[in-house]
Amino acid sequence: MQATKTQVAVIGAGAFGGWTALQLRRRGARVTLLDAWGPGNSRSSSGGESRILRAAYGPDQPYTRMAARATQLWREHEQRWRIRLLYPAGVLWMVSEGDDQFERASLPFLEEAGIRYEELSLREMSRRWPQVNFEGVRWGMHEPEGGFLRARLACQAVVEGFLAEGGEFRQVAVLPNHLESGCRDGVLLSDGSRLIADRYIFACGPWLGKLFPETIGNLIRPTKQQVFFFGTPLGDDRFSEGKLPVWADHGQRFLYGMPAGDGRGFKIADDTQGPPFDPTEGERSVSAEALELAREFLGFRFPAMRHAPLVETRVCQYENTPDHHFIIDRHPNQESAWIVGGGSGHGFKHGPALGELVAELIREEREPDPSFRLARFRER
Ligand SMILES: Cc1cc2nc3c(=O)[nH]c(=O)nc-3n(C[C@H](O)[C@H](O)[C@H](O)COP(=O)(O)OP(=O)(O)OC[C@H]3O[C@@H](n4cnc5c(N)ncnc54)[C@H](O)[C@@H]3O)c2cc1C
Repeated sequence: MQATKTQVAVIGAGAFGGWTALQLRRRGARVTLLDAWGPGNSRSSSGGESRILRAAYGPDQPYTRMAARATQLWREHEQRWRIRLLYPAGVLWMVSEGDDQFERASLPFLEEAGIRYEELSLREMSRRWPQVNFEGVRWGMHEPEGGFLRARLACQAVVEGFLAEGGEFRQVAVLPNHLESGCRDGVLLSDGSRLIADRYIFACGPWLGKLFPETIGNLIRPTKQQVFFFGTPLGDDRFSEGKLPVWADHGQRFLYGMPAGDGRGFKIADDTQGPPFDPTEGERSVSAEALELAREFLGFRFPAMRHAPLVETRVCQYENTPDHHFIIDRHPNQESAWIVGGGSGHGFKHGPALGELVAELIREEREPDPSFRLARFRER
């Protein structure tokens, strides 16, 4: 890539596209970032209030290192933009009686990436966080430097940073016409214009399957995920940031949540994949069953929150690949087009590191790691 002459169009200003656009701009490309509804919009996967930043990922994966690099970049950009995006509340993995393979296998990877962690006994956890009922929990893995990110706000901050460094942003949609057969004559936009670039990076999250029905199709399946925020008791800060870490309860179901911060309430969500969901037309209302499950769990694990009122809900979608690994690859029939997505419920935190990786791949005309390439699905 001849940095200063190359014109790049990045389509999608979520966690993946926004950071990729910024990192490409820094490497000298002329970058136009497009988004149909704007950075961190309510339909996008990056559009929630908060996202967890953790580095434990089990064995044989690239994500612990990526999370370490991303953490560094999140911190640097907080300083650069003078904005608080990362709340380092810590992340506590509650390991239930039974299988602890995931946590055990994570430890050497954390070690190798230089990420601090603590193995905590039941007794120690009960001492530190007496407001939690640790029944059924055997031990805990604590990442003191993890925490949560202000998701929607961060997407907007990235685009503002990108604009300040000379990038161009347009709120407009790329029409899904003939994208599979080539962008030689540019891409057609919803305002009737056409955008011609040297490289196109499609970072359209859960929409990628519809934009590329042959290349992606069902390789990215959007699922409905429901998130609940409960109000903390008046004058009681035991469930707020500073008093409680982000937590992941790795029992029979995988529930997670975070302390109240930024006035939004105490968050609970179930990581189990929900039913298929259309990110454009889907109604974002929660189900009574999911609310009941969240309430039941809340009362059990955080007894003083048993009668807490529901103050907010959100419906978002995961954009799952079959193996939960990201997709970072060239379009098989078009040298100039890249597909970047498949965050699979864990992509947000990696945005800064992923953007850096994609920008480097494009600048150096390198091939991505096989674990991110589309060929892995064909080889199955
Ligand atoms: C409930 C929930 C909880 C999650 N929790 C975590 C977590 O704790 N930690 C974590 O790291 N990750 C988490 N994730 C996953 C993470 O949020 C996603 O993996 C990540 O945000 C995906 O970003 P993206 O940029 O690929 O997609 P998106 O954010 O969806 O961005 C795609 C963008 O493309 C735009 N677009 C689509 N089509 C077009 C078009 N034709 N033309 C122009 N623009 C278009 C959209 O408007 C959108 O803004 C969670 C996800 C959900 C839903």
